This record gives sequence, structure tokens and C-alpha cells, in this order.
Amino acid sequence: MSSKTENGQRGIRISFEFFPPKSEEAEVQLWNTVADLTEWQPEFVSVTYGAGGSTKAPTLSAVRRMIHETPFTTASHLTCVGATREDTHRVIDDFLSAGVRRFVALRGDPPGGVGSAYRPHPGGYANAAELVSALRERGDFDISVSAYPEKHPESRDTAADIDMLKRKADNGANRALTQFFFDNDVFERYHDRVRAAGVKIPVVPGIMPIQNLTQLKRFAGACGTSIPSWLDERFDGLDEHADKRASVAADVAAEQIEDLVRRGINEFHLYTMNRSPLVSAVLERLGIRRKADACEGAAA
Ligand SMILES: Cc1cc2nc3c(=O)[nH]c(=O)nc-3n(C[C@H](O)[C@H](O)[C@H](O)COP(=O)(O)OP(=O)(O)OC[C@H]3O[C@@H](n4cnc5c(N)ncnc54)[C@H](O)[C@@H]3O)c2cc1C
Repeated sequence: MSSKTENGQRGIRISFEFFPPKSEEAEVQLWNTVADLTEWQPEFVSVTYGAGGSTKAPTLSAVRRMIHETPFTTASHLTCVGATREDTHRVIDDFLSAGVRRFVALRGDPPGGVGSAYRPHPGGYANAAELVSALRERGDFDISVSAYPEKHPESRDTAADIDMLKRKADNGANRALTQFFFDNDVFERYHDRVRAAGVKIPVVPGIMPIQNLTQLKRFAGACGTSIPSWLDERFDGLDEHADKRASVAADVAAEQIEDLVRRGINEFHLYTMNRSPLVSAVLERLGIRRKADACEGAAA
């Protein structure tokens, strides 16, 4: 393991996910968050791609700035929904020109939103497995893909889901990043099935620190993520107590990661929601080293 990945005494490796800002205020928020989180030395960061394949411009602009102005190794998400193969190749070219060498390759949600019927573009890539192949043909990139411990909402069943993950791995994906989840038993069962299916790439848990439980429940429903009843109990009575809520949210995410570490997992992808305080509180609880601490350690 390189020194860059020795992030904390127990070798926990982290990555962060951001989304591209849609307003000037959100832009300020993103770059303040990036500045705050730099000290945690993530393995890599990623920037999501507009839903429905909408526009590449905000992602491209954020990714370009991350590559040129931050120490982060930066991955761009890329979807193939609603695009011809030629369109997708043009987008890939634009990202390559911006210096991108890491991708999170996705099919994308249907333009009508999650739950509406998905129709591949007749001249496009039908799914993420085909997109991974297209990227692999273009170069030696680092490619992440999605994985769904509670199955993708469109999937017939978990077996179909794992079959798609295997196709993505066979086509050259380096790792899978999961949809967020809160039940580690569900993840462990899924992980066992993935390994039994012969998928060897790391399956990195996506961890969602809970900024707002009510909003999260709406989002989780659409993603197929279940919300265990103990989460309601942990947040019960805290509506008027922002500090306590934040403290419980940090405890919940740190406890989830600690438990996964005990189960043998040591890489985690944190959904930052472009906010730093909660993410930093989680990493502090885990005893992960900040850059300044790491330098002190090296100097000692
Ligand atoms: C880590 C992560 C990052 C993401 N980032 C983005 C992003 O930046 N932008 C964005 O728009 N979305 C993003 N998404 C959401 C993703 O685009 C959606 O979940 C989308 O619906 C599926 O894309 P995929 O790459 O997972 O699809 P695939 O891997 O191609 O398929 C996922 C699963 O859906 C099932 N499936 C796919 N198509 C069909 C079909 N036609 N009929 C039946 N079952 C089907 C398969 O069983 C498969 O296992 C992200 C998801 C994750 C987990």
C-alpha cells in the first residue's frame, strides 16, 4: 500500500463523491467543501454526471478545476443514457482533453426519472457494461462502476443485478461503488454472492452520512435503499436539536464503517452532498489521519 493510501492506522481508504453546482451559491459551497476535505487525503474523488445524461458542462467544468487546482485524483462520472455512441465518444474526448483518466461508468436513469421505462438509444450503448468496454478500448483508464446491495429498482432480482456487475467487471471495470445502504448484513450477503459469482473486483460500500433523514427517506425510496427502523429511533426527538442530530448522524456513519471494517472491508466511498462538517466528523470518529497529522507523524 502506498503512503497515500495509508489513511489512518488501520489502513482505511476513503473516496469522496461530489456533484456539480447549479448556482453561484452552490459553486461557493462546493469549493469550500473541497478545501475543507483536502486534509483527509482521499484515495480519489468523483464528480457526478447530470441526471438523464442532461449536460456535461457543469461536470466537465468542476472536474477540470479539481484536476488543475486541487491535489485530488479525480474521476468523472459518465452516463450513456439518451446518447448515440458518437455522442458518448465526443463526451469522452472532452473529458480526456480536460485531463481525466478515471471514470465512473454508468448507464444513467431514464429521462423520465427513476421508475419510468428505460429505452436504450438505438444508436447508443445499452448499459454500463457496454460503456465500460468502450472506455477500455479507448485507453488504460481507471474505471469504477455501480453496484446495488439491495438490487437496482429495475432489476428482476439480485441474480440479474450481479450478472450485470459481472459483465462490467469482465469488460474491465476496476472496482464497484455501491448505492448507499444502512444494513450491513444486507451488504455482507450481497458481497458473498458477488464473490460466489466470480466477481473479483473490490466492491466499495457507498456511505451516506445523514444530513437530513426526512429528505433521505424520499431519495432512498427511489433508489431502492431500505431505511431500518433503528434509524428513526436514533433520530427520534431531535428535530429541534441540530447539533445533536449532526452528532448522531456522525455516530451512525462511523459505526457503520467500523462494523464493515470488522467484516473485512477497508475501502469506503462517502457521499459528501457537497458539505464537509458531517463528513469530517465521521472521519474524526474513525481516527483517520488528517494531512497535518500524517506530516507530523512522518517528521517524528
Ligand atoms: C455509485 C453510483 C454513482 C452514480 N452516479 C450517477 C451519476 O453521476 N449520474 C447519473 O445520472 N446517475 C448516477 N447513478 C445512478 C445510475 O445512473 C442509475 O442507478 C441507473 O438507473 C443505472 O445505471 P447503472 O450504471 O447502474 O446501470 P447498469 O449497470 O447498466 O444496470 C444496473 C442494473 O439495472 C438493471 N437494469 C438495467 N437496465 C435494465 C433494463 N432495461 N431492464 C431491466 N433491468 C435493467 C440490471 O439488472 C443492472 O444490474 C449512480 C449510481 C451509483 C450506485
